[in-house]
Amino acid sequence: MKKNIFILLVSTLFILMLIYLYDEREEILNKEYRDEVNNISIDYPYFNNVIIDNYLNDYLEPFINQGSDWGDLLFIDYDYEELEDRIEILIYIYQENGGMVQKNIQKMEIDVYNDVILKQSKMVDVSLEYDSYYQRVIDKDKPMVALTFDDGPNHNTSLVLDILEKYGVKATFFLLGCNISGNEKVIARMKEMDMEIGNHMYSHKLITRLNDEKVKEELKKVDDLVFDIVEEYPTLIRPSYGTYNRHAKELVDRPIITWNVDTMDWKYHSSKRIANRVMKDVRDGSIVLMHDIYRATANSLDKFIPKLLDEGYQLVTVSELLYYKGIDIEAGEVYSRAK
Ligand code: ZN
Repeated sequence: MKKNIFILLVSTLFILMLIYLYDEREEILNKEYRDEVNNISIDYPYFNNVIIDNYLNDYLEPFINQGSDWGDLLFIDYDYEELEDRIEILIYIYQENGGMVQKNIQKMEIDVYNDVILKQSKMVDVSLEYDSYYQRVIDKDKPMVALTFDDGPNHNTSLVLDILEKYGVKATFFLLGCNISGNEKVIARMKEMDMEIGNHMYSHKLITRLNDEKVKEELKKVDDLVFDIVEEYPTLIRPSYGTYNRHAKELVDRPIITWNVDTMDWKYHSSKRIANRVMKDVRDGSIVLMHDIYRATANSLDKFIPKLLDEGYQLVTVSELLYYKGIDIEAGEVYSRAK
């Protein structure tokens, strides 16, 4: 009897260890490069594997070293998919040069069991070709979901808008004030496309750590910048990090919008994973958190929007969602979904 319990214990431990090891392999995380002198910070994938990470460092080094010559914009982004025995990873390198954004896309296949890079190839970025074959009509009795995008805009936001336009759907963009300057055109396009524009504060600081005056200043700066472009003030607030406390609620003059579906796109940069997460967690009335500044997020839209539409979901702005679900919104109240 004792022996059976021992075997059971050992095998349970073994299974737990396997799960742990499997999870270890799955985690591809962001590594951050910071150059304080030139004020550059770049995220790129980190495998926690000497061979692959060294290879990536070697590959990215020339771009990173040149960073300061390219002006403000050097952006390294990635999207990956895990297959049975290997990982396919796409690395997007955006460089700004005389007002032009150059894209460099590298595709790599990695044999995860033998720590070998199997293939690497340069890819061509194909421009989008599409038909607007989905028409948008809001029916309050049919399921609805509000996609929300934080922290933009950046050079990737146009692609997000292209894809939303392709499917004829709307979304809400919570703009980060310090990213507005230089991106006026993309914000004007959001307005033209009837996207909703919300306030994500100016410098992405925790609202709970700022004094009253500073909170008001952070919000007002974004309000004014948005107004200058679209002649309307944002009517919704999403505090940076989605964090707030009772005092912040009393302080703000508009509803606070959080979310009930978190795609974790900033962490995983896998369009497949982001799309799976949306399809698994979304319900009628959901508010989904994403970030328009990442390529994997944009790529994921092409994967899950057609599926949501096929399932009968209507993709609406946050204000539309709350309105059509008959929810009265109030300043200082928090809404994470429409139910
Ligand atoms: Zn944010």
